[in-house]
Amino acid sequence: MSDEGILRRGAVALVTGASAGIGAATAEALAARGVRVICAARNLDRLKKLAAGLEGAHALALDVNDAESCRSLQARLPEELREIDILVANAGHDVGGRKRFDQGDVEDWARTVETNVTGVIRCCHAVIPGMLARNRGHVVTLGSIAGLRVYTHGSIYSATKFAIHAFTEGLRDDYAGTDLRVTEILPGMTRTEFAARRFDGDKERGRAFYETFPATLDAADIANAIVYVLGQPPQVTVAQMVVVPTREA
Ligand code: NAP
Repeated sequence: MSDEGILRRGAVALVTGASAGIGAATAEALAARGVRVICAARNLDRLKKLAAGLEGAHALALDVNDAESCRSLQARLPEELREIDILVANAGHDVGGRKRFDQGDVEDWARTVETNVTGVIRCCHAVIPGMLARNRGHVVTLGSIAGLRVYTHGSIYSATKFAIHAFTEGLRDDYAGTDLRVTEILPGMTRTEFAARRFDGDKERGRAFYETFPATLDAADIANAIVYVLGQPPQVTVAQMVVVPTREA
């Protein structure tokens, strides 16, 4: 086992869903530590703006709902960024959510499952073989406290995060005999674009939603947690980390 930590200058990290929220904050936090960050999502304009301000960062168009987009992701990268050390599988949403099951659009439900579960599986499947070949890598998934307990009108979103909880545990078990590390971060309520996207991009409704909670986290708080788990020495795996606002715990 190499005793060099994974969070070192020049390491390569792929962050999905980096155009906003937790993904963007994670890209910033990793780049600040000298990591070369591949900022991936669908909105390439936003990614380019983000990457332009981060040393060593690269913007990559990626739609995790598109199998070919995921399969080809490494081939579409500059050669020096193809050996990915860190995957932060963060892209996710709840578009059309917070509704009683029968009152939601079944295609919205299906897309939520596709992005939050199948999308994570696709990205992991694209990146993990290289990590295994090098026997070096850390996969971080974004679960949620909604993956531990179900809230009212959260049947589908919670189902996706319960799936991530199980999938991440399964990955850790699969690679227990290797030096790969696998961590699930389970955030509580975090103020991002997530709520507005849920309500068809209605920013005011998104803001008002967060105001109904006594406390919320910022995206940077979750990025800090991700940096913490990546910064552990090679013999230490933080398997799961639940991060909640102090006054909401
Ligand atoms: P956000 O601000 O809405 O950002 C979501 C990101 O996901 C965006 O960059 C979006 O980029 C990307 N994305 C969505 N669909 C995609 C697709 N098909 N392909 C590629 N990228 C896609 O939300 P966030 O709060 O940062 O959420 C990040 C993760 O944290 C999610 O997995 C979420 O479930 C989880 N989480 C959030 C909270 C919270 O309270 N905010 C709590 C627990 C867990 P494009 O639109 O440019 O593709």
